[in-house]
Amino acid sequence: SLTLGIVGLPNVGKSTLFNALTRNDVLAANYPFATIEPNVGVVPLPDERLAKLAEVFSSEKLVPAVVSFVDIAGIVKGASEGAGLGNKFLANIREANAICQVIRVFDDPDVVHVDGRVDPSSDIETINTELILADLQTLEKAIPRIEREARTQKDRRPMLEAAQQAKALLDAGRTMFQARSEVDGELLRELNLLTTKPFLYVFNADEAVLTDEARLKELRELVAPADAVFLDAKVEAELLELDEESARELLESIGQHEPGLYSLARAGFHTLGLQTYLTAGPKESRAWTIPQGATAPQAAGVIHTDFERGFIKAEVVSFADLTEAGSMAAARSAGKVRMEGKDYVMADGDVVEFRFNV
Ligand code: GDP
Repeated sequence: SLTLGIVGLPNVGKSTLFNALTRNDVLAANYPFATIEPNVGVVPLPDERLAKLAEVFSSEKLVPAVVSFVDIAGIVKGASEGAGLGNKFLANIREANAICQVIRVFDDPDVVHVDGRVDPSSDIETINTELILADLQTLEKAIPRIEREARTQKDRRPMLEAAQQAKALLDAGRTMFQARSEVDGELLRELNLLTTKPFLYVFNADEAVLTDEARLKELRELVAPADAVFLDAKVEAELLELDEESARELLESIGQHEPGLYSLARAGFHTLGLQTYLTAGPKESRAWTIPQGATAPQAAGVIHTDFERGFIKAEVVSFADLTEAGSMAAARSAGKVRMEGKDYVMADGDVVEFRFNV
């Protein structure tokens, strides 16, 4: 499954956040056979639709989609030179599908900031610079080889051109993600450049920041079009120790109406380019994870590979139509249930029953 790698400067709250991420029981409850690595935190994707579906179908249980975060050993300036943990750090990032950078915006004289002051844009630049330098090394090694290949193999020429373009952009201090409309990243896929990965930014904030709309807007704009999530990592960790009522009070005291882990899960899911569709029955109401743009047979394949191979058609109703009708039968007689074929592109929140040959 796809993962987000958590990175950030030392002392920004990564471990605090990661501990909160790992202390939930979603896996134990719903995925008894999943092996969890110690450096992986799996969070449920909050989805209010599941509870409503479970009502309509009298489902015994709810199974949400999940998002996986991998804790990546701390980045330090000089990581790209292979200093200390540098090499391992870069290898771990290469395996992640997206990068989740934690940035400190909380004030606390007791917690030392590595660069001496809270400065989000400088933190972002520090991480970007290390990743850019690592990508430049990759390109400097690859370009002579691609050049040789391009002399005899015409089909390597577009790749050579893209590699040279990428090098120029990185040299100018831009990430491949920032320049994604200018270079065809597909041509460079085999190089697995780090800065191609989509970014998500988590601002570890305190109440003063969380309740300051102007400041939040400024931070959102700093990282746009990437997603920004605002939370207080220390509070997130405390929430898990509290009953529902006290948790709500604690959240309200810092001006929040839901745990930050919820918005983090949603943003992580979005950054990975994923969406969900739903199935429902007496046994369970469940959200399934598919890439945005997945077709009906691909969606069926997530349940079982046989479903993809033997796909005949999908019976689809939108969540809104289904809950408005009150039952599958009522939705059918209201003409809200569609038969979709193998070219159908799934929409988020489709409630589906697949027909297939085995
Ligand atoms: P890491 O080095 O990025 O993994 O950072 P840690 O999670 O170890 O946090 C460093 C220090 O900052 C610890 O003493 C944490 O208790 C503290 N800390 C983490 N998050 C917050 C926060 O949101 N507010 C405050 N005041 N302190 C925090």
